[in-house]
Amino acid sequence: MPISSAHTRPSPRSRFDPTSSDEADRLSAKALEIHRHLCGVYGCPIAYFHDLDPLSELVSSLLSHRTRNADSGRAFKALRARWPDWERVMDADPAEIEATIHGVTWPELKAPRIRAVLSAIAETRGALSLDFLAGLSVDAARNWLEAIPGVGPKTSAAVLSFSTLRMPALPVDSHHHRVAQRTGLIGARTDVGPSHAILRAQLPDDWSAQALYDNHEVLMLHGQHVCHHRNPACGRCVLLSLCPTGRAREPAANLTVS
Ligand code: SF4
Repeated sequence: MPISSAHTRPSPRSRFDPTSSDEADRLSAKALEIHRHLCGVYGCPIAYFHDLDPLSELVSSLLSHRTRNADSGRAFKALRARWPDWERVMDADPAEIEATIHGVTWPELKAPRIRAVLSAIAETRGALSLDFLAGLSVDAARNWLEAIPGVGPKTSAAVLSFSTLRMPALPVDSHHHRVAQRTGLIGARTDVGPSHAILRAQLPDDWSAQALYDNHEVLMLHGQHVCHHRNPACGRCVLLSLCPTGRAREPAANLTVS
């Protein structure tokens, strides 16, 4: 049985160096300032882009890893068109699943992974549904999901936040992660996985699902539209005064110390 609740999520404050609570407070204030600026640009609250049940959202998230949204969306629709329910996908020939999702990156890995994840849920729960997660806390639900091989922090947070569960979890995708690194919210060597706990701890514990969703969306949108992987447009960025990377790239606009 692959699923256990053995591992626990650290409490928000324990994720920081206990000797640097001033630094933690400074970063929390900065995270709120960044959120405020970006909400002003992109407009909060932001409408949810999905209305999928949590199991479907899980499959969608597994398809989306390192794949453009348009391509993973096409693959998801192709799966739904080819098989009427997830039970049939679980029992399908992996080669046929692979051919159906061919537009995503690594379809040869994602096809057996999707089958394995669906099988793990069915074996553990006795039914192929994740609706029961609504009755768990966010941490318990994420731990349950992340105990499934192949499910990481981004996927677990996406299932809780983006699906009809609408639970307060903070996903971090590559765009969100890049903006967080460049603005100094996380270290240059902090990977996407560990960044989930750090970035969530910088935001108020009592933020709603919508507020956390907005935070993810505005940082992601900023990474897509301004803070590009190559050649970030620092000269027109509303975060320039808060961003050490931007100030280094735009010395003429060196304004205030963040
Ligand atoms: S100032 Fe530049 S590096 Fe910093 S967030 Fe804006 S675009 Fe990205």
